Amino acid sequence: MTEGLLTAAYIIASILFILSLRGLSHQESARKGNIYGMSGMLIAIAATIFGSQSAGLESVLAAMIIGGIIGGVVAMRVEMTGMPQLVAILHSFVGLAAVLVGYANYLDPNAALHFSGVEKTIHDIEIYLGVLIGAVTFTGSLIAFGKLQGVIGSNPLLLPARHWLNLGLGVAVLWIGTEFVNAETVSAGVMLLAVMTLIALAFGVHMVMAIGGADMPVVVSMLNSYSGWAAAATGFMLSNDLLIITGALVGSSGAILSYIMSRAMNRSFISVIAGGFGTTSAQGSTVQIHGESTSITAEETAELLKYAKNVIIVPGYGMAVAQAQHPVAEITKKLRANGANVRFGIHPVAGRLPGHMNVLLAEARVPYDIVLEMDEINADFSDTDVVLVIGANDTVNPSAQDDPASPIAGMPVLEVWKATNVIVMKRSMASGYAGVANPLFFKENTSMLFGDAKTGVDTILGKL
Ligand code: NDP
Repeated sequence: MTEGLLTAAYIIASILFILSLRGLSHQESARKGNIYGMSGMLIAIAATIFGSQSAGLESVLAAMIIGGIIGGVVAMRVEMTGMPQLVAILHSFVGLAAVLVGYANYLDPNAALHFSGVEKTIHDIEIYLGVLIGAVTFTGSLIAFGKLQGVIGSNPLLLPARHWLNLGLGVAVLWIGTEFVNAETVSAGVMLLAVMTLIALAFGVHMVMAIGGADMPVVVSMLNSYSGWAAAATGFMLSNDLLIITGALVGSSGAILSYIMSRAMNRSFISVIAGGFGTTSAQGSTVQIHGESTSITAEETAELLKYAKNVIIVPGYGMAVAQAQHPVAEITKKLRANGANVRFGIHPVAGRLPGHMNVLLAEARVPYDIVLEMDEINADFSDTDVVLVIGANDTVNPSAQDDPASPIAGMPVLEVWKATNVIVMKRSMASGYAGVANPLFFKENTSMLFGDAKTGVDTILGKL
């Protein structure tokens, strides 16, 4: 492949990635966005493999076939509820790749032929930053995987002097960096690089261990951003323009998403990264939950729904676990045919992935115009006859507003309790992801419909 053709392929792939991001920002155009992204990636891979570096083509192809088969099998098998963990583990691979490319670059015996003077300093800085970002992304993503998989508890680990520890590690990394750039020999440089790698690996663990509970969505999108910067750093090390562009697109879109998620949680971005926001006083929440909860049957719920004029459905993680979105869409159709105004209220962090609920509802072909964001629907609950909460918990927890000592204090929630009747569908009285008890279940106008959400929704549908 000639240089000109390679450049053209890279430009086309970059444009397709930008179009893909644009497409993915609206539900209607998301499918097209995915197609743009996949086409861009196909062109990028083909151009890279058959481009100027033809050496080692066999091993690259062999690695791709093995990796492709593993990736394909994992993607086919993964449940929708396992997607966040899969994304986290994939981020860790990007981080690990950046670390390995950094070491390979530094130890490359031909590097001295290509770089000298200022260029060598710049190349060393690229390597140092690439390994640093990669190592933080690697361990941070592994811990996020553990937390999302439930292998590691979701509570934040708050070391006593954690901010000082972070500051100390930051200063050490800066100092080692200057020593590394001025290192006289490759062996001295590798030693310094190794020490920094260990610090960065430890920092990745500490950073994500300190963030927990309801703040996890910000971590997931933040690691998404880091993986982009790690890829961009790899691009600099390999002098690959497309990798730089792609990495920067992922890095900056991930950073914007993290900012949006922090705002949705009413947290400052910095305080979430620093870890344990709002948890110092939250060890013992002051709110005591009194009273008993009231149960309702699926048949009674169906009766209530039949006569309701205004209905809001609030889905959460439990709907995803139960895969109840299809019968929920059927119920929606029936109630609307019956003349009811049915809408969906979506919390920005409902489920375990940004946009999780929107994806499920789109899959079940629920019309987009009745799927509303929290800000768009929160004022309407007081005029609503029935709210059906399907497997949501933290996102409808009034203690976020009423209890300043709650770990989720300050997080905006869907104010479902303002409706005339609230039906909460879940299997038990257990708390949600953040581990916070929910006073909603004990309110006078709340009835609990216990059981698996899919079974419950199917029964309601049968009775309508
Ligand atoms: P929650 O995790 O707060 O609660 C989900 C509820 O669903 C549980 O209480 C559970 O109760 C119930 N449930 C589980 N399985 C079933 C089932 N088969 N049938 C019926 N109910 C079921 O969900 P929310 O969506 O309200 O909140 C999301 C939480 O996850 C927030 O704390 C958010 O910060 C966090 N998070 C979000 C991420 C994102 O990007 N969106 C990423 C990481 C974390 P029971 O066991 O009694 O059935």
